[in-house]
Amino acid sequence: MVEYGIPDEIQNYEKKIYDQRQLIEISRALNSTLDYEYLIQAVLDICLAQVQTLQAALFLTPDMDADEMRLMHGYKGFDLNQPESSYTILIDSPLVNFFETNNKSLTVAEFTEKINRPDPAFDMLRSIGVELLVPLRAKGKVNGIIALGEKAVGGEYNDSERGFLVDLASLGGIAVENARLYERATVDMMTGLKNNAYFQSRLKEERDKARKRGTPLAVMFTDVDKFKVFNDTYGHQAGDEVLKSVARVLIESARKSDFAARYGGEEFCLVMPGASADVAVGMAEAVRQRIEAMTVIHEGKEMKVTMSIGVATFDPELDARSNKTMVERADKALYACKRNGRNQVQLYRKEME
Ligand code: GH3
Ligand code: MG
Ligand code: MG
Repeated sequence: MVEYGIPDEIQNYEKKIYDQRQLIEISRALNSTLDYEYLIQAVLDICLAQVQTLQAALFLTPDMDADEMRLMHGYKGFDLNQPESSYTILIDSPLVNFFETNNKSLTVAEFTEKINRPDPAFDMLRSIGVELLVPLRAKGKVNGIIALGEKAVGGEYNDSERGFLVDLASLGGIAVENARLYERATVDMMTGLKNNAYFQSRLKEERDKARKRGTPLAVMFTDVDKFKVFNDTYGHQAGDEVLKSVARVLIESARKSDFAARYGGEEFCLVMPGASADVAVGMAEAVRQRIEAMTVIHEGKEMKVTMSIGVATFDPELDARSNKTMVERADKALYACKRNGRNQVQLYRKEME
């Protein structure tokens, strides 16, 4: 009998309502981004904020049919004494099998009791001081594991914390899966560059921004010189190696706000928001020089290529309606490079029409 204050039962309900509200907020936050790394950080930050621990890590499968989960970069507080890549959990392990059939959290102590088969994951998790494990899931499959260290205040994780973490992990699992699908739908597998579909929708966004804010915007279109001959000489596989190296140069040359895409075949582009014609031409020239200086080694053979680059800048009047006009101008500039002897950069000029 409680005469003063709020009865325990009501306090418990209030706590539950509070937790549910938190979860709705968290769900909103997790669903508002498709950026994989940002998402991982968000899940870890929420763990640290909601249960008192200083150590949180996420193990995720690199893709849906992978055979192991990997420790994701950006883990918090754990001291590793081996390279990050050696911290893995096999999908076909007693631990993951347990989570496949039990949607609940598991402490390292319960691990020994419930899973009485040897599991190398267990030793690994113990060696870094993991205390609690929580499964992430999507479409009925475990697609990751949250690993938490000891509670900073001491003591064990209580039922309400563990229940909360399971709910959080199920939201996180879906968000991670969505981000992964988005990544797969927008990235070119071979080069790691954004694909044409992404290029088209992002360029539209960038045109809108440039028009509204009156800021500059430029694109460069690249095309490897005499690549047919290259393929005929060295083979298609060697050609692929070259394209991957060219893509890496573009990714490394991109500034933070730029993005590189594979427009198609051996034609790549770099979209440069905020870049004036001068800046864009300077960047294109730097890319051209890096390609010229690059040697690709494939099956012991040293191979070199050169590249032509056409540059065009955004024109609020000409380019108000579609991407096409700007792309066409860059293409004309690129064609001018080819006509003029290749291995060069040209900025679009009216005379090129
Ligand atoms: P140009 O200097 O005029 O550009 O000559 P080019 O031979 O490079 O001509 P073009 O750009 O028209 O040719 C593109 C060639 O690129 C033809 C095609 O076989 C090759 N190519 C396109 N995509 C790929 C790819 O994914 N891998 C490889 N290895 N080759 C590709
Ligand atoms: Mg081409
Ligand atoms: Mg070419």
